[in-house]
Formats: sequence, C-alpha cells, structure tokens
Amino acid sequence: MPALNDHLSPIFDEVVRRNPGELEFHQAVAEVLESLDPVVRKHPEYVDAEIIRRLCEPERQIIFRVPWLDDHGRVHLNRGFRVEFNSALGPYKGGLRFHPTVYGGIVKFLGFEQIFKNSLTGLPIGGGKGGSDFDPKGRSAAEIMRFCQSFMTELYRHLGEHTDVPAGDIGVGGREIGYLFGQYKRITNRYESGVLTGKGLTWGGSQVRTEATGYGVVFFTQEMLRTRGESLDGKRVVVSGSGNVAIYAIEKVQQLGGTVVACSDSSGYVVDPAGIDLDLLKHVKGEQRGRVSDYATARGGSAQFVAGGSVWDVPCEIALPCATQNELDADAATALIAGGVQAVAEGANMPVTPEAVRRFSEAGVLFAPGKAANAGGVATSALEMQQNASRDSWSFEHTEARLQEIMQSIHDRCLATAEEYDSPGNYVAGANIEGFKRVADAMLALGV
Ligand code: GLU
Repeated sequence: MPALNDHLSPIFDEVVRRNPGELEFHQAVAEVLESLDPVVRKHPEYVDAEIIRRLCEPERQIIFRVPWLDDHGRVHLNRGFRVEFNSALGPYKGGLRFHPTVYGGIVKFLGFEQIFKNSLTGLPIGGGKGGSDFDPKGRSAAEIMRFCQSFMTELYRHLGEHTDVPAGDIGVGGREIGYLFGQYKRITNRYESGVLTGKGLTWGGSQVRTEATGYGVVFFTQEMLRTRGESLDGKRVVVSGSGNVAIYAIEKVQQLGGTVVACSDSSGYVVDPAGIDLDLLKHVKGEQRGRVSDYATARGGSAQFVAGGSVWDVPCEIALPCATQNELDADAATALIAGGVQAVAEGANMPVTPEAVRRFSEAGVLFAPGKAANAGGVATSALEMQQNASRDSWSFEHTEARLQEIMQSIHDRCLATAEEYDSPGNYVAGANIEGFKRVADAMLALGV
C-alpha cells in the first residue's frame, strides 16, 4: 500500500477495485501517485477537475480475438489488446508487445507509463499501448506474417495517423511493423505512413529510430553523470537484455568510452571483461536470432556464459536494465551497491522494483526512471511522424542531434521540477511531476 494523502488514496483504491489482480498496473499507478502529493497541494484546480482520477482510467480499451494458421495448417488463437489511455496531448502513441506474459495488467501499466513519457518528450503525442499474448519464439517468418496480418485485420479500424499510432516493443521489430503496415495498406487502400512508426528506411521510416531508445538511455545517463562532474569514459557498464534497446545502449556506451562487461537474455548472462564485441552480438542476436550463450561460444577467450543467475552480480559503475519489468529487485540493488554502482538508468519500462529504487536512493546512487530515460524511442517515433507528415526524410546526423537535444531537455526539466517541488536530485519525482503537469494542463483546457 503506497502512503498517499486524502485526495490520492481513494483514487488508488478505485484503481485497484476497477482493475482486480492487475499488479503491474497498480505498481505503476502507485509510483506516480506517490510523487503527486506536493502537486495536489499546490494546484487545487487539478483536484476540482478530478484530473488524476480521470488520468487513471483509460479512455478506451480494445480486446480482440486473433486467430491464425501455423505452417502445418493448424488453427491457433491469441488475444489482442490496445489500451488507448490518454489523448490530451495528441494521438495515442505507444508500442505493441508480443510476449506470452501479455495480459490486461501489462498493457495498462505500459500505457499508463507511456502517457507521462510521451508528455516529457515535449512533442504532441498521447499515450497508449497494445500487444498480444502471442509467443513469437520458434515461429517461422511465414507464421509471424500471418499472425501480424490477423492482428491488424481487427486493429486497423481503431488506428489512424491522427487517432492512434502504434510502434514496436518486446517481440515487435522492423519485420513485424512491415507485415502490420502491409496489411493496413491492403485493407484501407491508403499509403498512410504516419499510422505506424519504426518503419523501414525505404518505406517511410526514420533514421535513428532503431537506435533511439538505447542511444537515448545513454545520453540521459551522460547528463546525470555530468551533474557530478563525471562521464562515461572509462566506466564499467552492465546492460541487461540483448534485444534492440540493449544493443544500441551498448553501442553508444562504447562510442562514449565506456566498457560494457556483461549483457543477458532470459536464459542467463555473459560476462566479457574485455568488453562485449558488438558486431558479434548483433550478428548472433540479429541475423541468427540466437542466444547470448551462442555469443559466448563464438567469442571464446575470457567471455563466459552463466546459466540462470543474476547479471547484477557483475560489479560495475553503471547499470542499464534493458530487458523487462521488475527484473532488478532489492537483492540485485544491494549487490550492485556493494559492487560500486554510481548510476542506474532504466532502458526497459519499470525494470527496477520499488524497493530497489528506495535502496538506490538511500545509497545516493543516481537513478533515472524509464519514463524519462527511455523516452528517446518514442520521441524519435514522433520525429518519424513529423517526417511522414511533411513527406520528408532527414539525415542520420540531424535526427541524432534532435534526439540528443530532446534527452538533454528531458533531463534538465526533470531536475528543475524536482528542485521546484522540494525533491532535489530525485529524477523519479521530477519525471512524474513534469510529465503529469503538461497532460493535466491540456486536460483542464479541453474540458470534462
Ligand atoms: N515501445 C516503446 C516505448 O516503450 C516505443 C513506443 C513508440 O515508439 O511508440 O516507449
């Protein structure tokens, strides 16, 4: 139970009552509400208009059946979701996750986080999220294509460049966005580029979109370190995960002079004291769709695969959790603190448990919540929408410079807001309050 004031506590109870058993969603709401006490005291207008209660209830929730045929002609059935959470700032925007753990509570937690994250970018995008409990692991490209086509056959009627604009998330990358976009185009007879982001470069995609989440996390980390007169140069870094976010976080750390000594996947982790060989990792995870154990075998030398276990046992100065929700718990935080960690930035959405966040803050470790640190992905999606709307495409350098500017601005505004609301250096409070205020003001202006 979070400690909340008289206005916020009934709102939290209502969220629990309306969304029974959806623990990840309760956790995400509790974390935001805990930051809003000073905002509610200062701004009675938000209380009068019931802004926070309204924010906690999605504007629209879509649940649908997704039937599809495997390569042997057998029929399978999955469930599809899209939670259109808040459109005060722009069309609903947020990724699609294909993973067997997906259910209403995961999609709602992600959609809720997305509202504040998208607000923090300063760009005109609302918050939403979707996905399916479909497990892409071991499926052929033809099966993935049929699944995506069936998924879009229902979802298309809810989308539009001015309505709802999905992108990727876990299990949904460029290949899946291609199949989804193809089906949208086929059904609607419209080449509506701005309806999905994360597209390929030859058909409406943006430079840097693939790299953006990982690069952005590292830009944000660099800004946090700068406040203590530090940089990434010479730092040992541990990154969890080995998907798209992890790979491009590793790339940017290496460009800025840090050494990534470990990364992981669901089967275990690899320690590589000489520094991860990124070309090899990209080859194994990308073209081969392999595991980090295959990376360790191919790399040889001092690289070692550890089955199971926690990647957070590897000592480092910087930790970047880039795998999935609640992957870094209190024990992992204690191990990292003992190993000398100075900064932690969330590449994934809510990978650090509330207790672990408390331990970092008590130990004086810099901590960046995902809604600020990983906002570079969705920010670059908004840049992709801009390019689509103007039928233009920008260079890599220009797009990356825009991304870096956006991350610096998010960092600075989080810090300034934390200071203004009496929590200096607290990026969680800063991100929640700063993200909240922009949406809240728009909701007030738009009426009930
Ligand atoms: N799935 C990403 C996120 O968690 C990106 C969403 C998007 O680009 O719309 O922010």
